[in-house]
Parts: sequence; C-alpha cells; structure tokens
Amino acid sequence: MQPFKYSRAVDVGTATTKNAANPSAKFLAGGTNIIDLMKEDVEQPNELIDISNIKLTEVKKIGTGIGNGGITIGGLGKNTDAANHPLIKQNFPLLTQAILAGASAQIRNMATNGGNLNQRTRCPYFYEVAMPCNKRQPGTGCSALKGVNKLHAIFGWSDSCVAVHPSDMCVALAALDAVVKVQGVSGSRTIPFADYHRLPGTTPEKDNNLNTGELITAIEIPANNFAAKSYYLKVRDRSSYAFALISVAAALETVGTEIKQARIALGGVAHKPWRATEAEKFLVGKTSGEALFREAASIAMKDAKPLEDNLYKVELSSKAIVRALLQAMSGGQHS
Ligand code: SF4
Repeated sequence: MQPFKYSRAVDVGTATTKNAANPSAKFLAGGTNIIDLMKEDVEQPNELIDISNIKLTEVKKIGTGIGNGGITIGGLGKNTDAANHPLIKQNFPLLTQAILAGASAQIRNMATNGGNLNQRTRCPYFYEVAMPCNKRQPGTGCSALKGVNKLHAIFGWSDSCVAVHPSDMCVALAALDAVVKVQGVSGSRTIPFADYHRLPGTTPEKDNNLNTGELITAIEIPANNFAAKSYYLKVRDRSSYAFALISVAAALETVGTEIKQARIALGGVAHKPWRATEAEKFLVGKTSGEALFREAASIAMKDAKPLEDNLYKVELSSKAIVRALLQAMSGGQHS
C-alpha cells in the first residue's frame, strides 16, 4: 500500500470542496472496496477523505418525500439499514432481496448505499497488478479479452474492456427506475439510473458519470405497483458471499393475468446493470405464462455477444429470466 493523507469532512460541502481541490483523492465511507483496492495497489489515491462522520441526516436517512409513495435512501446510509427498512421491505421488496443477496452480513453492515453504486469490477485481471488492464492502467490492453473470461460481459463490451459491474443492489435499482442525487462544488443534480453507470467504450477507467468532487447524497425510487410481484434471482458458484455469474431483477404489474407493466434488469452480463427494455415492452398487454416468458427471455438475449468462455451465460440468463418472472408472478417470495 502506498502512503496517503487522511482527512475528515464533517459536511458534504467540505467533502466535495476537498475532492475538487485534489482530484487524486478518494472518498472513504464504509471502506469495503477502496481499502481492498489500496492494499492490492490497484488504486493509489494520495488522500482519503473520510465522509463517514458527516452528521447530516439527509445523507443517511431513509424516508418518503418524492411524490406519493416514492422513497429517498441516503447515500451514506448502510446497506443493512436499507435492506431492512420497513418501507423498503413493504414497498420495494425487490431492493431488499437484491441487497441481501450481496456480500455478507458483516460487509452490508459497513457498506454504504452510495458506495455500493461506486464499487469497482471484480475482474481478476483488474486486481492482478502484474497483468495489463485498461481499467486499472489505461492503454495497457485488456487481459480478459483473449484470456480467461468466464465471468465477463456478454452485452455492451468493447475491445478495451469486457468487465461486468458487480453490484446486486444496482440491478434492482435499475429495474425500479431509481434516480441518483449527487452534489458537487457547483451544486446538486440528479442522474437517471440508466445514465449513472457507463459502458466501457474506449474509456473503461471510468465506471460512472460522476464528475470529480461529486458525492452521492441520495438514491430516489419513484412509486410503483411492483411490490406484490417482483423477484431477484442470483445465480452464483456458491450459495453465499459470491458475486453473481448472472442475476435477474424481475417485476410485474398485473390486472388478473394481464401484464400492465414489466421490468427486467440483468446483473453480471455487462459493464453496467443491463435493462431488457425490448422484452419488457413485449410483455405489456399480454397474458402472463411460462411460454410468454420464454419468448421475452429470447428477445432479451438476442443481441448477446458471448466471449470464448462465457457462452453459458446466454442460456443461463435466458432460463433465469423465465424463472424470475414466474417467481414474480407467483408473489415473489424467496423459498
Ligand atoms: Fe481490465 Fe476490463 Fe480487461 Fe478486466 S476486462 S482486464 S477490468 S480492461
């Protein structure tokens, strides 16, 4: 680990000013990702700005406040508190399921909601500093493109990077049309969730569209009618404390068996949570059922471009979409 300066910010304004003044600095909140990256010399910030002591309740609390039935989740609140909050369990159970599918209880107790969005890929080559990696060191090449790429992307990748985003929480937030509230030195702005994370293109070192100095203050989820029929399905190599090979966040609004609205988001398949919007539109107005869900899954997967080692993700994702939609339709309870 390289030497670095440690400083504390007691409010959002101080934090963003400090970061804007030193673009090489990083925020420290739960520390569940940045500390690992620093220990491995993957990231070498010259300063950590500790934002965990910011007292403002707005950045930590969970509450109503955006329209009728929507919810605001503080960026510096803990993952555990978000997953177990009564309003989220009742109105957005898809989010509770996704958060609880991620990491371990101990990590969720430390990890913040904003930090979850900003966690970095778990591509093994990204962590192996002896190997070329465009994300870690732009211009050096992508070791995974022609290397072992079982865990990598099947959508939206480029020759520069084939990594996937590791978060479970973000897959649910993508399905629920969340909005990210950020504050920087020149004010605050909101970013629709679909525009928050980036595809790799030629700049894989950039995971998201945050500007230097900007801090996530809150995540907002608008009201919806998906609470009764939603399901988060995560497929992984072992049953706990493992990242998704693929995951599916499925949500349906129905009248009887007719689908009024549908949401399908995939994790573990792209550099960002991947919304299957064409498949969602296909489902609207139709009568739910397994055959229909199979058609939707094949629409969702038709543009997949697997790499040498991850063809299995296409079939696995397709089957998982069907299963997640069936589980959602039957009430979305985890067995
Ligand atoms: Fe690096 Fe991305 Fe290639 Fe992995 S996939 S080696 S993170 S450039």
